[in-house]
Amino acid sequence: MTTRNHCLERDAQDALAGFRDQFDLPAGVIYLDGNSLGARPKASLARAQQVIAQEWGHDLIRSWNTAGWFDLPRRLGDRLAPLIGGRDGEVVVTDTTSVNLFKALAAALHLQHGKAGRQVIVTERANFPTDIYMAEGLTRWLDRGYSIRLIDSPDELPAAIGADTAVVMLTHVNYRTGYQYDMQATSALAHAAGALIVWDLAHSAGALPVDLHAGGADLAVGCTYKYLNGGPGAPAFIWVPRMHQPDFRQPLSGWWGHAAPFAMAPSFTPTEGIGRALCGTQPIVSLALVECGLDIFHQTSMEAIRVKSLALTDLFIELVEQRCAAHPLGLVTPREHARRGSQVSFTHPHGYAVMQALIARGVIGDYREPAIMRFGFTPLYTSYADVWDAVEILRDILDRQDYNVDARRDAVT
Ligand SMILES: *Cc1c(COP(=O)(O)O)cnc(C)c1O
Repeated sequence: MTTRNHCLERDAQDALAGFRDQFDLPAGVIYLDGNSLGARPKASLARAQQVIAQEWGHDLIRSWNTAGWFDLPRRLGDRLAPLIGGRDGEVVVTDTTSVNLFKALAAALHLQHGKAGRQVIVTERANFPTDIYMAEGLTRWLDRGYSIRLIDSPDELPAAIGADTAVVMLTHVNYRTGYQYDMQATSALAHAAGALIVWDLAHSAGALPVDLHAGGADLAVGCTYKYLNGGPGAPAFIWVPRMHQPDFRQPLSGWWGHAAPFAMAPSFTPTEGIGRALCGTQPIVSLALVECGLDIFHQTSMEAIRVKSLALTDLFIELVEQRCAAHPLGLVTPREHARRGSQVSFTHPHGYAVMQALIARGVIGDYREPAIMRFGFTPLYTSYADVWDAVEILRDILDRQDYNVDARRDAVT
């Protein structure tokens, strides 16, 4: 049987343990929600002060050139690219995941344009809703006969992709269950049917090693405020591999994607390369902080992070199943490592109330319908002893039924 002392021993031998010092975490909190909003790198406070006081306050508009503001989406894209198997000039950090997905889907339909009868976007009902909503918005406004086909399980994918399919759009790791697709096999399935594949890496980037080129991806988007610790609402990213850049066209043809933005020409000519994925002026204060998270990732490797992530999620599953065995908890996250992201989700009939009780005692996870308690594991700032302590608090709450089933729902769960 695992004990708390075993967990402390593992922490003492953990090569990643020191990274916790690079994050500012409040005392008394076990933070298991870095999959939703990553913790704050300590460096981001000084960086915010520099951007606001020096670059904005003192250097004013000159900073577009002197502080590199104008190039920041590309420069951060190049910093992020190695974490997802991208190359220089293939990624920009910009806009939101929702907006980038809209651009990527529109571009994918354009790349397929002229292939008769390819009018279907295949995705899954369990996808993060905004991904489906953005596809709905795009197809409705194009009004050219495109439709969306929703699968109810990954097993249905082979039968759902066919001669009518333009694009397969999937989230690599499911936000609710933590299920991870086999990127390479799934991309190959889409390609064999003549479809393109767009991957959403919201729960993959910074969570596990991703190799978009080896994985056969056509386009990808993802989030920086989750595992990458960019800060609340920090701009997202979009990846366009060089092979698709010449024909990449997206409808949000703002001036930042123009070949010569300061020529102030009266009509749009897209720039060459990844810049054509840009639209307009970016929130520089927020964008600048993305670098503080990326700097930390460059001090280690995604492989090392993955080893500890699996150890943490294995430990959490083992301890919950041993120590909370008397309670009606149901594991919804795959046990198989290759199919698991960096989170663990359990159902409980009073999941929302139990999660509120956990949060009140400093164990911060979150709740997703239906009845799912979601726990994210971030190896850079979560210890094995944290896992032990979190499970003990969960056990205590369940044993004593110390939760309020009438807890009022906050706007954000
Ligand atoms: C978190 C998440 C988003 C968030 O989109 P925003 O535009 O940043 O609100 C989108 N898609 C998936 C799959 C996510 O997990």
